[in-house]
Amino acid sequence: ELLNFNYPPEPSTDRVTLFADVILPLPLPKLYTYRIPYEMNDEVLVGVRVIVQFGAKKVLSCIVADIHENAPADYQAKYILDVLDDKPIITKPQLRLFKWIADYYMCTLGEVINAALPSALKLSSESRIQLHPHYNPEEDELILAPQEEKIIFALNNNQALTFTEVGNLLQLKSYHKFIKSLIQKEAIIIYEQVSDKFSPKVVKKIRLTEHFVQEEGLLEELFNQLTPQPKQLDVLLNYLQLVPVHQDINLNYRGTEKSALTNNPHLSASSINTLIKKGVLEQFDQIVSRFPMEHGNQQLPMALSEHQLQAKDEILGLFKEKDTVLLHGVTGSGKTEVYIDLIKHALDSGGQVLYLLPEIALTAQIVTRLMKVFGDKLGIYHSKFSDNERAEVWQGILSGRFQVIVGVRSSIFLPFHDLSLVIIDEEHEPSYKQYDPAPRYNARETGLMMAHLQGAKTLLGSATPSIESYYNCKTGRWGLVSMTKRFGEAKLPEIELVDTRREQQRKNMHSHFSAKLLTEIEERLKRQEQVILFQNRRGYAPFISCDECSWIPKCKFCAVSLSYHKYNNELRCHYCGYHERMPHDCPACGATTLKSMGFGTEKVEDELKLMLPSAEVQRMDLDTTKKKNSYQQIISDFESGRTNVLVGTQMVTKGLDFENVSLVGILNADTIINFPDFRAHERAYQLFVQVSGRAGRKGKPGSVIIQTRDPLQPIFNKVRSNDYSTLYEHEIEERMRFGYPPFTRMIRITVKHADDKAAENAAIVLTKDLSDRLGKQQVLGPEVPYIFKIRNLFLQEIHIKLPRDSTNLKAAKSQIAQAIFNLKLLADFKGIRVVADVDPV
Ligand code: ADP
Ligand code: ZN
Ligand code: ZN
Repeated sequence: ELLNFNYPPEPSTDRVTLFADVILPLPLPKLYTYRIPYEMNDEVLVGVRVIVQFGAKKVLSCIVADIHENAPADYQAKYILDVLDDKPIITKPQLRLFKWIADYYMCTLGEVINAALPSALKLSSESRIQLHPHYNPEEDELILAPQEEKIIFALNNNQALTFTEVGNLLQLKSYHKFIKSLIQKEAIIIYEQVSDKFSPKVVKKIRLTEHFVQEEGLLEELFNQLTPQPKQLDVLLNYLQLVPVHQDINLNYRGTEKSALTNNPHLSASSINTLIKKGVLEQFDQIVSRFPMEHGNQQLPMALSEHQLQAKDEILGLFKEKDTVLLHGVTGSGKTEVYIDLIKHALDSGGQVLYLLPEIALTAQIVTRLMKVFGDKLGIYHSKFSDNERAEVWQGILSGRFQVIVGVRSSIFLPFHDLSLVIIDEEHEPSYKQYDPAPRYNARETGLMMAHLQGAKTLLGSATPSIESYYNCKTGRWGLVSMTKRFGEAKLPEIELVDTRREQQRKNMHSHFSAKLLTEIEERLKRQEQVILFQNRRGYAPFISCDECSWIPKCKFCAVSLSYHKYNNELRCHYCGYHERMPHDCPACGATTLKSMGFGTEKVEDELKLMLPSAEVQRMDLDTTKKKNSYQQIISDFESGRTNVLVGTQMVTKGLDFENVSLVGILNADTIINFPDFRAHERAYQLFVQVSGRAGRKGKPGSVIIQTRDPLQPIFNKVRSNDYSTLYEHEIEERMRFGYPPFTRMIRITVKHADDKAAENAAIVLTKDLSDRLGKQQVLGPEVPYIFKIRNLFLQEIHIKLPRDSTNLKAAKSQIAQAIFNLKLLADFKGIRVVADVDPV
């Protein structure tokens, strides 16, 4: 339908003039105030979507953030043009959180709203063309080109067309000139049509018409009449079997899905239609939920073990004094069951629960466990859901249907209004941090703030806590609860190191597999047990190179070499997505000696299939999980034993729980340890302990083989003895000594420019300005990052270290924002981009 843009209305004196501060979904630094037309006074509420005029543009999907009586001092407020919701779709606690995100992570509220709202809840507008109201083609006196006539003819029949439809009609790409000239001739007009992108799910249903429901005698009569038409009688009897005639008319009127009849191979489709034509049956459309209520029988949670009960009691005890507790429980200690018990506890006292997970792969497994207990109260939220599904989850939280949400980091945007518990599982995971685009938030910190704003408790869990979180426990801000034993009889796995350098000399390496690892894998296959292999890179090889002239293919847009992907014979950039076919010969010297260097998951899978042909191998990485259900498929194949070996990137290291895995192999530990970052050791420890933790989880003893060229690395001892406290003591001391988090807060500023020199100069200017504002010691850089060009932009980095206390932090951030703003005004650096990343990981 056309929206009514005919404001402003006549002002009337006896009503209050109200103004609304509106968040426009654009990167604007502030909110704009609009006047509420009197007759919308009751409709414009905080949290509803409105349409407003901004400059020359109508902006859709704006959110009302505040309502008051103060006209803006420095500009004339325009009227709100339209209200789209009768109830708020964003709650007040949500708005407070969004404001915090924008302030803390240095972005605009518009950017937060843009990231938060599922796209099906954003409006779209489309230009449509129709005949000019005063133009009558019948009495046409205009001279029209044949193409123009075609358009007019079509409009005369169709009332309105989209641009695409006109293009298709003329089978032309450049038809805009005809539209333009028709507008000039006042034969047509263009208007904007606004529509909700959300489309409800509709099913075709069928029911007995009211006539026959109400008078049973009629139905008897009908049976007699239909005797000569056995096919029709059959349809009717089948229908009545599905929906028996009931006293309660409403029950009859729900009918059944039409497919229940049409999918029955014994029923004739034409007889179904005949009964409809005769007015016996009728068809209707029904809007249904994409998440059918079908989990009526909820089960009780598993009975907790003594250790679990103790942990739970400790947690609840600590919650009496503290808002936040960290559950430090070794892999397989049964943390998930403790969470489930606590969720149940929270729901029983009437609040909502958010259960955050770092990875979709993990939700696939945990949802099955939660569904059994929470049934239809459980909602799931992640990026593999369609736009419409995500909008339904959003609405389902507002309406109260979903009380527990399991989801990945973006779930912190959901419209909770009555949270009582937030669980942040695998809290140490770097994937809780959003990289790009803004808001560059960390779902762990944001989850904590969300809980705080709604008076909820937060439980973080990990077998390998982040140094920052553990520090919060040590200083008494958070409570700490530990579980040091695996559930039941299960023991932590034995970890063995294989020195790949030595094995190479002894000719004991078969490509990337040591003889030891291969034998162990074979052994497991014989015993019908399963194996997980971890390699930290996807693709076949991180780069290829010519044996003759050492040519290495590089990305056209980024300063990285292209990875080789064998399954589609492509070279691919993992930073910008650029790809090209793998050349047959070296483009530099023509030799046919192109060799792949290094290895990724694809190569591991490939080689293993060659060396152990009887093994069923599957791979889980970004390349194999593009489709909606691929995670679920890979995991259930492995769970059911259809596959024996699971090869994967980080995805296989986190939280997964498979009963039959007795061996885990880490193919190349070295790149992980040698990563240039102050968190490298912490990360390596976490990764090794977590992936090892997938082995031997249920009674069967597990082993882990780590291949490394440097087995004397001290990190391995800590991993082998599961010695978190030594790692913590070592790390925290270094962090203190060098002034890293948690003793400071870091902000990374990245300066980007298409011109190398401009990027460098701008970074120098910005560093100088920042040093003047914040003090020299606080500002480090500028520095050229290891990957110095991405998407054709040259990069420079500045690191800022700030004292922890929050008053300083706020002031410093506004200084930084001011410095960036000033830099952008300088004529020398036109086209510059500056990104601030708060608490980068
Ligand atoms: P964590 O999350 O600490 O790594 P999980 O919660 O996945 O550990 O538990 C490890 C295994 O032990 C799982 O397979 C789980 O089903 C099982 N388990 C945990 N608690 C219980 C319980 N109370 N009763 C039966 N099985 C349990
Ligand atoms: Zn060459
Ligand atoms: Zn690239």
